[in-house]
Amino acid sequence: MSKSSVNHGTQSVWAGELQPFPHGSHTVPIFSTVTFAYDDLQAWHDTSTGKQPGHIYSRNSNPTVSVLEEKVRVLERAEAATSFSSGMAAISNTLFALLKPGDRVLSIKDSYGGTSKIFLEFLPKFGIDVVLCDTEDHEQIESEIRKGFKLVYLESPTNPTLKVIDIQRIARIAKEFDAITAVDNTFASPINQNPIELGADLVIHSATKYLGGHSDTLCGLVCGSKELVNQIFLFREINGASLHPETAYHVIRGMKTLELRVLRQNENAMHISRYLEQHPAVSAVYYPGLESNTGHTIAKKQMRGFGGVLSFELKGGYSSVETLLHNLTFLHLAASLGSVSTLAGPPRTTSHVELNEEQRAGLGIPESLVRYSAGIENAEDLIADLDQALNLIKY
Ligand SMILES: *Cc1c(COP(=O)(O)O)cnc(C)c1O
Repeated sequence: MSKSSVNHGTQSVWAGELQPFPHGSHTVPIFSTVTFAYDDLQAWHDTSTGKQPGHIYSRNSNPTVSVLEEKVRVLERAEAATSFSSGMAAISNTLFALLKPGDRVLSIKDSYGGTSKIFLEFLPKFGIDVVLCDTEDHEQIESEIRKGFKLVYLESPTNPTLKVIDIQRIARIAKEFDAITAVDNTFASPINQNPIELGADLVIHSATKYLGGHSDTLCGLVCGSKELVNQIFLFREINGASLHPETAYHVIRGMKTLELRVLRQNENAMHISRYLEQHPAVSAVYYPGLESNTGHTIAKKQMRGFGGVLSFELKGGYSSVETLLHNLTFLHLAASLGSVSTLAGPPRTTSHVELNEEQRAGLGIPESLVRYSAGIENAEDLIADLDQALNLIKY
């Protein structure tokens, strides 16, 4: 299944599930058990010490959870994968497993809100030095990396203005200077982008978004080399941020349609971006698929599709945002993204709620910005809905 001749669409369905399940079950059984019994003490001991495969205790590993890990591992072209109770658990366990006091981490200013809180508040408390660079300033990132870092932590495309980083370029220089490169691949999903093929060492997912795809469950994963993933796994199994088998089942079920959903969402986001670009009430559209986008050339090089999330600025400030979002029909006014249904909101109630207006402006996030996560609905209907609401805006 890891053969690159097998395509992502097939792997989303089959990876991790080629072996027969007990009783000929067609679907992955949910092994709702904490502990696993053995015939004798020798077998138990051999499993505990890793001499034979098997499971001991579900905080460490569980057969249902293993199927999900295998599926994501194959889709991300990685040697190993491990899972977590949420995307933030994946991120924090990775950072705390790999870093120690005195280490230095380099990241970008546009990282996900929770991740940025770890960089700005949690890591410094443990004596870990954090440097945040301007997201699209590749020269600055490269010259910083030359100063020496344990870890380079990237996200591409970013939240909420969809900036794009050349993963291959940064991973290459990080390797040269002995830094581990980790990439949060949540926005792209493995259908659109595989950071390991671009030279990254670790790929992180909030499976809460595209992998699960239905906004009904929290989950996180990390993929990479056996050595790095094992180091993170050994931290997580004691730290305890383990994934519940029932949740793993939900994500496995969601992932059956991963390629179908993401291809549709790529298309919807592209149509909607083009529509918004020509609307007089819209002053800017941020989507890596648009030729006008600053990250388009890099995105075209490293992504197979441009993703389902876009953002745009409205003329007339925050009151225009209220008019638009209060008048859309096919929309949940809610945080999160990557669901089958369309979700939208302004950064001031979603990703950047903890910052004030000035801090958001400092990050280049205007109050008139709307982040829009296209669902799998019909694009014509979504555009007609946007059209009637945008035409109510006075600017
Ligand atoms: C949502 C998100 C996270 C956090 O994931 P949770 O599953 O909510 O903990 C991390 N990174 C990105 C890019 C996200 O969108």
